[in-house]
Amino acid sequence: MTMRAMVFHVPDASLRLEQDRAVPRPGEHEVLVRIHACGVCRTDLHLLDGELPGARLPVTPGHEIVGRVAARGEGAERFAVGERIGVPWLGGTCGRCEHCRAGRENLCDRPTFTGFSRDGGYAQHVTADERFCLPIPDAFGDAEAAPLLCAGLIGYRAYAMAGDAQRIGLYGFGAAAHLLAQLAVHQGREVFAFTRPGDGAAQQFARGLGCRWAGDSTAAPPQLLDAALIFAPVGALVPAALRAVRKGGSVVCAGIHMSDIPAFPYSLLWGERVVRSVANLTRRDGEEFMRLAVEARLRAAVRPYPLEAAGQALEDLRRGTIEGAAVLVMPGP
Ligand SMILES: [Zn+2]
Ligand SMILES: [Zn+2]
Repeated sequence: MTMRAMVFHVPDASLRLEQDRAVPRPGEHEVLVRIHACGVCRTDLHLLDGELPGARLPVTPGHEIVGRVAARGEGAERFAVGERIGVPWLGGTCGRCEHCRAGRENLCDRPTFTGFSRDGGYAQHVTADERFCLPIPDAFGDAEAAPLLCAGLIGYRAYAMAGDAQRIGLYGFGAAAHLLAQLAVHQGREVFAFTRPGDGAAQQFARGLGCRWAGDSTAAPPQLLDAALIFAPVGALVPAALRAVRKGGSVVCAGIHMSDIPAFPYSLLWGERVVRSVANLTRRDGEEFMRLAVEARLRAAVRPYPLEAAGQALEDLRRGTIEGAAVLVMPGP
C-alpha cells in the first residue's frame, strides 16, 4: 500500500510531494494512524530553515496530528481500531535518564520527536508509539483539534510556568497565543496581546477573543504585567518583555528556537525578575491541557490547506498572515 506525503529533503532543503511512499507498518507498541488533519507549526519552519540540529533526514514534518487508528502493532492495546487519537511532538522517551526518572520526560536525553526524528503528519498515514498519543475529546472537530496538540499544549506548559499571574502578556499572537488567551480569559485573568508592530488585524483578533489590551510589541502595556509569554522567535522580545513585567515577574520563552537575545542592562532583570524557557511537553501536560481545553471550550481559528500546499502554509506562517493556526486537512477515504 502506498500513500502521499510531503517529505523534507536535504541537501537542497526542499519539501517535496511523494505520491508513492510506502504506508509504514506499526512496530511494537505502535499504531498506524490514518491522518485526518495535521497542524503546521513554527517548529516545522525552523526545521526547514536548518535552525534545528539533529533531525533525521529526509523526514516528513508535522507533529499536530489527528486521525483514526487503522492498525495496531504487537502489544498495542491502548486504543481500538477506528478510535480517534492525537500524535504530539513528544514521540518517545528513554524512560531511564535522570530527567525521565524525575518525572521531567520533556527533558529526556534520548527523546524521539514526531516529524523530526521520526516521520510526522504531512502525509496520509503515520505510525506512532501509542504510549505517547492522546485521545481526542469529541468536543473538537479534526481540524480544530490539530493545533491543540502543540500550539495549545506547549503553550499551556508555558502558561503553567507563569503560575498564578493575574496580568499576562502574550508576545506573538499566533496559533499558541490565540488558544492560551481563551484559556486565560476563561480563568479570569487579564490578557495583554503584543503583535508585530502595526498588525491591526491581529490586534483586533486578540481583542475579539477577550484580551484586555492589544498593541505593538514595541509598546508598553497600560499596566505592568505579572508574567509574559513569548511565542514569537524574536530574541529582541526578551528585553522588551522584561521591561513590561513587574518586580518578581517572569518572562517565559515558549519556542524551540529564537534569534539571539540582544544585550540589555542588568536593571531589567533586577528585582527578582526571571527569564526561562519551556522545552517540549510531558504526557501529563497533554492530559491536563485536553481536560482544560474542553472545560474552557477553546475554539481554534483554523485556516485549512490541502496536503500539497504545505509549503504555502509555511510561507503564510512565516509572513504572519494567518489568523490562528494553519492546518493540513486530508480528504476523506
Ligand atoms: Zn530519558
Ligand atoms: Zn509545534
